[in-house]
Amino acid sequence: MRFTPTKRAASAVLLAAALALPCAAAAPKQKTLKPGFNLFSKEQDVQMGAEYAAQVERELPVVPNAELNKWIHTVGEKLARAPEADKYPYTFKIVYEQSINAFALPGGPTFTHTGLLLAADNESQVAGVLAHEISHVALRHGTNQASKAQLLQLPAMLGGELLGARGGLTGMLAQLGIGLGANSLILKFSRNAESDADVLGSRIMHQAGYNPIEMARFFEKLEAESGKGNWLTNMMSDHPNPGNRQKRIQQEIQLMPARQYNGETGDFKRVQQITKGLPKMEKPKGAAPGSATGGKVEEARPQNSFKDFKAQGLQMQYPSNWEVFGGGSASVTIAPRAGLFQGQDGQTAIGYGVVINQAKSQSGDFQRDTQALIQQISQENQGMRVTGNPREQRVDNKRAYLTMLSSKSPWGGNEVDWLVTVEMQGGMVYFVFIAPEQDLNNARGAFEKMIQTVRLGQ
Ligand SMILES: [Zn+2]
Repeated sequence: MRFTPTKRAASAVLLAAALALPCAAAAPKQKTLKPGFNLFSKEQDVQMGAEYAAQVERELPVVPNAELNKWIHTVGEKLARAPEADKYPYTFKIVYEQSINAFALPGGPTFTHTGLLLAADNESQVAGVLAHEISHVALRHGTNQASKAQLLQLPAMLGGELLGARGGLTGMLAQLGIGLGANSLILKFSRNAESDADVLGSRIMHQAGYNPIEMARFFEKLEAESGKGNWLTNMMSDHPNPGNRQKRIQQEIQLMPARQYNGETGDFKRVQQITKGLPKMEKPKGAAPGSATGGKVEEARPQNSFKDFKAQGLQMQYPSNWEVFGGGSASVTIAPRAGLFQGQDGQTAIGYGVVINQAKSQSGDFQRDTQALIQQISQENQGMRVTGNPREQRVDNKRAYLTMLSSKSPWGGNEVDWLVTVEMQGGMVYFVFIAPEQDLNNARGAFEKMIQTVRLGQ
């Protein structure tokens, strides 16, 4: 089974501070917002962001279209000039990716998915997302969370001479388990942080001439979509609703001096047209984890203990010696490192693990959609064949099919690929469980347990 995981997580666990109360009470005057506790210097935020940005650009397809880049730069710069943006060296780039999301790295590099440009109703909504991201940077939420994580070696590392060492700041952080992967401390924020980013973002929009209410409207729209189980709205898992999002933003607007909102460039329709017409971009070569050279089958074999995977719209358990890799934000790969083989074409072959994805209904008929998917997967994977007809079963009490496939294992010999399709409103979620054929007896129990623990929707 071939697939290209990246370190940037897909739908990831909400790092929601369970005790954080939503900011519901009306504040008579503007709340003062300042960065919280932080062990990093501002310069270290900037250094870290630059290093991560280089990594992101190696792993994600950054759109080279000059007109789009000029436009997002214009919009972003207008927002970045607001005093609240705190003069970080912001950059604005577009990533070719259908999911609706955007993210900012500490110190200012900001990336917006093409899916978000297509989902927004107007330029102000995109500006709202950028203003929200800029606020996370200015309030230093990423490094604030890393600072609060009580990593004992962190203060010494940040103060030490090691900083110039090979691998840089992010290389050191990786040793502490901090990176851009699933559950990244740097990219997933608490509800308090979300509320603050909404409020500061509203002020930044106001100053740049964009109506802040559009930020609230866009989040509301995404919320409605993700409520319907649309995984593409993973913006909501990265930026969870702090509660009463729209109301809080409206309160904030009432504290602002009245003004005309004339910030839009007037180019947004054209931007959406160009975005729609972009040629399909693949992930850059070499996008897989550096160590994806494959290990021994025994190292990859699922252990008998399990961890929880939680994403927007999906929960399940997985073997505790496996890891979660995002791969394009609508899909997730859960696999042991020893089961990943990096090919020369930059793609990664998965010898052991599970790939999870979703597909919109093509025919309106679940059984036919399943057949079409089997055909598509067979075409994408040379030498793959169907070894058993789809068997109807139930997963999380939903209609599902289990289909047995077989293909070549990167270890040599054959592998089994269990395709499990589960009917969802408007389409399906599907899983491909992969193991070397001769190791299936060691994998079967774990695969069954994963399937049994799948919970879809909310
Ligand atoms: Zn946010």
